[in-house]
Amino acid sequence: MFSKVRPTRIDRHVHLEGSLDPDWVRSHAASSVPDSLEALWRGEAVPFTSFIESFFFITDLLTSADAVRSAVNAVVGRIPANGDGPSGVDLWCSPQTLVVDRKVLKLDELWKGIEQGIADANAQGVNVVLILDAVNNFGIENGHTLLDLVANDLPPFVAGFSTGGLERVPFRQWAPVFDRARALGLRCAAHAGENGPASNIREAIEEAHLNRIVHAVRAAEDPSILELLAEKKIAVDVCITSNLALVPELARHPLKTMMDAGVRCALGTDDPGLIVTNLGNEWQRAAELLECDACMERLYENSISDAWCLNKI
Ligand SMILES: [Zn+2]
Repeated sequence: MFSKVRPTRIDRHVHLEGSLDPDWVRSHAASSVPDSLEALWRGEAVPFTSFIESFFFITDLLTSADAVRSAVNAVVGRIPANGDGPSGVDLWCSPQTLVVDRKVLKLDELWKGIEQGIADANAQGVNVVLILDAVNNFGIENGHTLLDLVANDLPPFVAGFSTGGLERVPFRQWAPVFDRARALGLRCAAHAGENGPASNIREAIEEAHLNRIVHAVRAAEDPSILELLAEKKIAVDVCITSNLALVPELARHPLKTMMDAGVRCALGTDDPGLIVTNLGNEWQRAAELLECDACMERLYENSISDAWCLNKI
């Protein structure tokens, strides 16, 4: 049964690097596409290391402003035409990986491509902001490298700073990096409670003072974490298709458990060029999990009220 509530036109969590269309990737790849990526495109589960291999295969194709613009266009193209309300994207990207670590392109080319992609989106009435994503498992130095890279000339479309990757380095160690990002006027978030334990969510909130958590699906294992998320009104970006693919312990997605506990969940697509999905599909899956129009209405309201692309500070 599909709820009477129509999907929003807001993708609350999607990575630029994981968004290129498969057809674009096939036509621009210099070498043959890895087997793991073909498997992902067929909707098959792959080991996390194979997912990372595929992620970097696509990342390495972002060699020009035009390629980056294509990725932003692909993100906007996955917003449902039949959705309701305002339209926007909270877009994650790791400039330090592209520019410093893998030297795929120069920073000014990356900014130019994003700026052009955002102009294309704006022409369709879609608001887009960028959230800088440091790699947790590379340590806090990765966060400082990122901020060193961008701090002197921060484009106006950059709204936030986040950590992603594997949840290995404790959030208390990341706290000074988040403080540095806040001093630049950025909002802060983190991927937590996805490939790490539920306790990472508590630490991110209490030690790093974050009020937005990406995924947080492990919260369903610990009622006290659900309570904390609800009590502190933490914005949580859930990506159903991606979560089910990358968190193999999930037999069923805990969206209903989270929302029944009062957690402010919203929906995103995460890496829809790899784990193929679109926003309309995520809303369909949410309706099947929730089977509750009131819950769908809350999901709709959360998606709008906590979206950084719609609510500038
Ligand atoms: Zn993500």
